[in-house]
Amino acid sequence: MAAAEQRGGLHPDGHGLPEWIRARPPRGELYPEVRALLDDLRLGTVCREARCPNLSECWSDGAATLMLLGTECTRRCTFCAVTTHWPRGVVDRTEPARVAEAVRRWKLRYVVLTQVCRDDLADGGAAVLAETVSEIRRASSATLVELLIGDLGGDADALATVLASAPDVLAHNLETVRGLSPQVRDPRAGYDRSLELFRRAGQAGRAGLVLKSSLMLGLGESPPELDAAFADLRAAGVHLLTLGQYLRPSPAHRPVDRFVPPAEFDRWADRARDAGFAGVAAGPMVRSSYRAESLYRSARAALGG
Ligand code: SF4
Repeated sequence: MAAAEQRGGLHPDGHGLPEWIRARPPRGELYPEVRALLDDLRLGTVCREARCPNLSECWSDGAATLMLLGTECTRRCTFCAVTTHWPRGVVDRTEPARVAEAVRRWKLRYVVLTQVCRDDLADGGAAVLAETVSEIRRASSATLVELLIGDLGGDADALATVLASAPDVLAHNLETVRGLSPQVRDPRAGYDRSLELFRRAGQAGRAGLVLKSSLMLGLGESPPELDAAFADLRAAGVHLLTLGQYLRPSPAHRPVDRFVPPAEFDRWADRARDAGFAGVAAGPMVRSSYRAESLYRSARAALGG
């Protein structure tokens, strides 16, 4: 599954949402500055494409998740607001340099890069992802890079290409529990394929590579299924986990099964830590890149690095 930070955006009217789920209005001095920078460099963000409810907070704090390989995806997950399109192998070769320039101008200490799925490319876009990490290393060597990737079609060579670029964090979202995966994710994605990606990354990645995943709650999963997903991710070597509420981006998307109260998220965070994750972020508004830097740093400390 691709870059599924894009899970559930916030439907603009906000009707029927519990009081703990609200989009915050834009605030802070950096918000217009960030928007101008991204527009100037023609860069897409998951924040905008996926109508993320945290956009205002993150942009005001000088953080955004940049989208690679365009802003349209070859897949159609039932929860995702990203437009589906088949670009027939077209890639903008200037994108890696533009992304690196944004990181340099923005003086980011930590950047999250994500991708749309590109099943139209033989390597799923792996070469472009790797080139982007390399360009960032050249432009801003101290910046930490979190790469949130799709499953690259299950291609081990494509994954090796990405790993060779040595991101600090390799993230891939499992999205949901095993039983719901076929209904929630595009048919080309798969629960076991995602776990295999982590196993391979753990074996082939550089020492110290941090692996991260994310699950949505409120899709109809049961507690035993969630516990099983935690155990599966840990067995596959995943260190960091985020848990957030699924929100329906539009009436055309999969309905929300239920809204999970904040206190229940706290309990699930404790269970995830008990399952062995080194870092967990959980809450109704948490998305896979939310406060990514602080989660990484706390996990690094826990992992002794
Ligand atoms: S449709 Fe699926 S694969 Fe494509 S960006 Fe959305 S979540 Fe990722």
